[in-house]
Amino acid sequence: MQTIHAKQVITPLGWQNDLEITIDANGRIATVGEQHQMPTDRVALLLPAPVNLHSHAFQRAMAGLTEARGPDPRDSFWSWRRLMYSFLDQLTPDHVEAIAALVFMEMLEAGYGAVAEFHYLHHDVGGVPYENLAEMSERITSAALKSGIGLTLLPVHYQYGGCDLRALSGGQQRFGNDPERFLRLHQDTVAAVSSGAADFNSGMAPHSLRAVDPAGLGAILNQATSGPIHMHLAEQVAEVDEVVAHLSARPTEWLLSNHAVDERWCLIHCTQMTQAETIALAGTGAVAGLCPLTESNLGDGIFNGTSYLGQGGTIGIGSDSNIHVTLFEELKTLEYTQRLRDLSRAALATQNRSTGRVLYEAAAKGGAIAGGRQSGVIEVGAWADLVGLDDDNQWLCNRAGDATLDSLIFSGGGQACIRDVWSAGRHVVQEGRHFRRDAIINNFKITMRELETNI
Ligand code: ZN
Repeated sequence: MQTIHAKQVITPLGWQNDLEITIDANGRIATVGEQHQMPTDRVALLLPAPVNLHSHAFQRAMAGLTEARGPDPRDSFWSWRRLMYSFLDQLTPDHVEAIAALVFMEMLEAGYGAVAEFHYLHHDVGGVPYENLAEMSERITSAALKSGIGLTLLPVHYQYGGCDLRALSGGQQRFGNDPERFLRLHQDTVAAVSSGAADFNSGMAPHSLRAVDPAGLGAILNQATSGPIHMHLAEQVAEVDEVVAHLSARPTEWLLSNHAVDERWCLIHCTQMTQAETIALAGTGAVAGLCPLTESNLGDGIFNGTSYLGQGGTIGIGSDSNIHVTLFEELKTLEYTQRLRDLSRAALATQNRSTGRVLYEAAAKGGAIAGGRQSGVIEVGAWADLVGLDDDNQWLCNRAGDATLDSLIFSGGGQACIRDVWSAGRHVVQEGRHFRRDAIINNFKITMRELETNI
């Protein structure tokens, strides 16, 4: 039994002081109340650790390598696409496991308790399945076990190179399946994940309306009887135009009129929605999966957060390309994009909750829903996904209540305040360091030396 004493805790009842939280042997919160015992850990501030609801782990190896222009000035995606495909010709299961372990460690050190991995790199070069169809799913599971992060594994169905149903080519072939093989892969993935930790789970992810046709989408959704369903929705203008040309409706419009979208759904990158689509999607209970740093990096556009939250919509945060794994900067970027667009301040704050409080609680609640994970809140019975922070520093000294969250998010010092992180009770970050930091970084460096990154 672990016992944490915290000076300040955000609970479903609001801020509370001097609480004792105990964690049972299964990794769940056993009690929340007054102090009775000698604590095993003392923290100044205790928060629920959100689920990072969208990640492509292998893309972490590309961080910082795709910021140059190519020969055609109109093609600003040149360096990103070129490096991505060059990587796809090289990555082995060992590489993927080493990269995933690194990025999962970084997520934990950033204050995430779990990750929903949108996993689409399934096959060997040329699209040849591994002898074990779920080889890569097993490697992601193994990286999650090594790092101690909670995992929701979302095997991705990816069939075509575009809405015109062109065949996959080049590196994309490693992603591809027809619905029948995808469903086998899905089953094997469910088995791989259930042999992991007790808090691990799985769901299903049709990649997008570009990579999956309406019949394929229907076929796999028929089999998605439980667990979360994630899909990229409307990220870029060109993508919306392509869907309109082939399905005669914008992606959000098409999805809402053809499928019963509800809280099992998490729609990633809702950066290209009209006002009417924003209101309609908010009303379904689906989680809008936002990745503000990647969306900024790729120039996707700005999610309409003020309208979505104003309509009672649910949001959560993902790190997507993993260009920079930082929960607090994601939240700050989401708010700042609203301010820059609307020439406003405190855009997402409400009458009685500050901007930081709204952002943090929304990410914790929406992340848990998107991950199908009983977490995101400090209450008895939930997984003990917790972040403990120090306040004896230049960022948090004398802060209380909502101002602590505002300072963590907007002062730039938030991550440096993180001292402890627990994922389903696993005490994986202590004194600000992941328990396997050196070994995981070493393995990652070996992998990076093996990969050709000159583009
Ligand atoms: Zn994505």
